[in-house]
Amino acid sequence: MGRDIPLGRIAGVKVTMDLTVLLLVAFYTVALATNRFPIEAPGHTETTYWIAGIGGALLFFLSLLVHELGHALVARDEGIGVRGISLWLLGGVTKLESSPTQARSEFRIAVVGPLASLACGIVLLCGAYVLPPDGTAGLVGNVFELLGRINLLLAAFNLIPAAPLDGGTVLASIVWKRTGSQATGMKWSAWAGILVGAGLAWWGLGMTGDGGAASINGWSLVLVGAFVLFAAWRSLRAQPLFALLDGVTVAEGMVTDPPTARSFDTVGGFLRGLDPSETAQAYPVVDERGHAAGLLTATAIRATDSTLWDQLRVDALAYPLDRLTVVRTDDPLLPAVQRIDGGDVREGLVVGPDGTVAGTIDARAVYHIAERRQLAVTRSD
Ligand SMILES: [Zn+2]
Repeated sequence: MGRDIPLGRIAGVKVTMDLTVLLLVAFYTVALATNRFPIEAPGHTETTYWIAGIGGALLFFLSLLVHELGHALVARDEGIGVRGISLWLLGGVTKLESSPTQARSEFRIAVVGPLASLACGIVLLCGAYVLPPDGTAGLVGNVFELLGRINLLLAAFNLIPAAPLDGGTVLASIVWKRTGSQATGMKWSAWAGILVGAGLAWWGLGMTGDGGAASINGWSLVLVGAFVLFAAWRSLRAQPLFALLDGVTVAEGMVTDPPTARSFDTVGGFLRGLDPSETAQAYPVVDERGHAAGLLTATAIRATDSTLWDQLRVDALAYPLDRLTVVRTDDPLLPAVQRIDGGDVREGLVVGPDGTVAGTIDARAVYHIAERRQLAVTRSD
């Protein structure tokens, strides 16, 4: 959604927001300052209401951030890289470098979000309870009470077992654990999402006729329902690919034993030693001791003036290890490819369980395998 505005880092996690967030902050501020607070906590100046309005709106996004941070930190604990958190109109999204490879990790990462919202809700409501009812403290208490209720609602809503909500992921992980198939879990939660999304939109449409505040609530519900429906539909569309790749490891999709380049050779020297019929598009680079040192890609070679090839050393043109995504032969294929595709270099280096170079891999592997398996499925029908 649009261009993201960087907000900084929390616990090493990059946080950005969409412009739509400013719109929503403005909307909440106005609604709270002019409508809710003067009625619920009368007797303050207009300026105080505006400050409380802004405070309430910011506190709302802060609690969304706590929810997303829950996902991000547990994902990191599960060994999955976190690209960042972005806040937008309908809440927040935590972008992971790859999908979890185990049902247990998927469950933990998903369930912690609603639990974080629940915790926020309880803390805020406790705050509202202990604050004295009148004066400025009373107004702050009112802000806390409202936000506390919203957080409890968010926790409950997110636990609805339907994709793309956290509850949908929880459901998918439980089905995955039971059946051993990630694809079956996805199918269940996607269908639940389609039903829930359509139901919410239908419910919302029924409310839009009344006009006034109920009508705004109705349209918001239609928007959320349409979002859930659309996201669930996309997840259902991706499901056959997951089904085809269930249980497939990197070893099945990689380019096995591609020619290796020695880091101290020149690019020209390496190319002359290459079989003219060679089709590999990436070559692992090894150092003097035969250890993996990087990856030389055909694209990088082609992008360099051929008259320079004999002066250019392989290690000067190759991508060093720290810029590469290194995966293992026994890693599940799809998450491995997701990590490579989101990385700096779109070709990944594959190492065996003992750490020695075994091959290279890129995103096309997914389609090759899917194609091969699809053919096998059609033939056996
Ligand atoms: Zn969540």
